[in-house]
Amino acid sequence: MRARQGVSADPTGWQKAKKHAERFLGASAFVLISVLASAAQSPGDDAPPNFSETVEMAPAEDASTGSIPAVIAPADPGSPSQRGSPAQASPEAPAAVRAVPVIAREARVVGDGARTRFVMDLSGPSAVTVFTLDEPYRVVVDLPEMHFDLAADAGKAGKGLISAFRYGLISAGKSRIVLDATGPVAVDKAFVLPAEKEQPARLVIDMVKSNRTAFLDTLRISRDRAAAEHKPEPAPGPAPNDGKLRIVLDPGHGGIDSGAIAKSGVLEKSVVLAFARTLKEKLEANSRYEVLMTRDDDTFVTLRGRVQFARSKHADLFVSIHADSFSGKDIRGATVYTLSERASDQMAASIAESENKSDILAGVDVPEDTDDVSDILIDLARRETKNFAVVFARNVIKELKPAVRLFKRAHQQAGFMVLKAPDVPSALVELGYLSNVDDEKLLTSPEWRDKTAVAITRAIDEYFRTRIANMAASETVDPKVGVP
Ligand SMILES: [Zn+2]
Repeated sequence: MRARQGVSADPTGWQKAKKHAERFLGASAFVLISVLASAAQSPGDDAPPNFSETVEMAPAEDASTGSIPAVIAPADPGSPSQRGSPAQASPEAPAAVRAVPVIAREARVVGDGARTRFVMDLSGPSAVTVFTLDEPYRVVVDLPEMHFDLAADAGKAGKGLISAFRYGLISAGKSRIVLDATGPVAVDKAFVLPAEKEQPARLVIDMVKSNRTAFLDTLRISRDRAAAEHKPEPAPGPAPNDGKLRIVLDPGHGGIDSGAIAKSGVLEKSVVLAFARTLKEKLEANSRYEVLMTRDDDTFVTLRGRVQFARSKHADLFVSIHADSFSGKDIRGATVYTLSERASDQMAASIAESENKSDILAGVDVPEDTDDVSDILIDLARRETKNFAVVFARNVIKELKPAVRLFKRAHQQAGFMVLKAPDVPSALVELGYLSNVDDEKLLTSPEWRDKTAVAITRAIDEYFRTRIANMAASETVDPKVGVP
């Protein structure tokens, strides 16, 4: 075993949230195996007889002595395009991220409830690191960035110890596969076989049934190690004194977490990124605004990373943008959510619960949360942050009303993780619901996108005007805040 490979630091400013995300992504890493298949490696013959898969097993010792660094092939600007898949690296990925041309072409799960093998065909060799997480039980497979060229339904069904899997970009230059386990498992072997004769290179993960005690022992060791390596996030510097009003737009989900998927295959993560880019453009027509985005490509960002990004940028307003699914197909229309310990109703609670699962879907070990919602609410009340958020939510609804269709209870409240910055007024806008075919048509229409972005821009203008009035009334005028 050896230490998990690090991810190179990104020097650009806005990537701070991603770096933050990395801290959490790395925090739980217990590296069971990290190996690069050598071309000289001769496959062994210890494949369990119950596997119909013809992959040959590498000798076990090869899987535990991998000290060869990851091989990253040179940039290939003409790398093949990909067909639709739930969590593929899309053309939205930045150029630096697109530089790795290894392509995953097919994935399959074989075996039974005692021993299960996951196999993925690759276009070339790759490094691989594997670790496990609980609540729920997962096996997380980290790879240098890959293009996943898999069928749209890949990963929806599993076999044996694996119930389903997801895949996609987890951070710049890094891909991830998350295997949902049916119970406690142990990773027996994980390796990449080189291509041979007619067979492509293959990623192989062998899992065996374990028990909770053994599983937790492994996890505890990994968490202790991660805690020892953990470096606290540096405190944000002082707010720049440039008179700008900072708006952080947060396109929901991304990378391995696609968010909602419409019947047609349209992905929430793509819809909301396109919308955020349009909204940013409209807002930037006003020179008083500095508009920042938690992501501007198809990368995953943790929920905490999104909040931390807004705080580190001294945001004056945080707008998270989503287009989720809801079980009733008749549910449709834009809805604005603000933070509350108590959800407005069952639907709001359910939407928040689903949003808050993003980190779990992405194979992130969510750290113990010390600042629970009750504590935050006290803070919110003190700082009037919550009131500002509600004022903003009402503005959005007022401006959207004549322009687009609203959900009948347009302002809702629930315990969204992403709205928990105690000092940044935050709201989450569900533009509509991808589970509704009429909403889906609107959400993918450039005209609708434009009209909605104009309405939200007006709501933001109005929000800052209201804020000035409030501050003037309390005679605590922030010199930074003026009429936009
Ligand atoms: Zn969402």
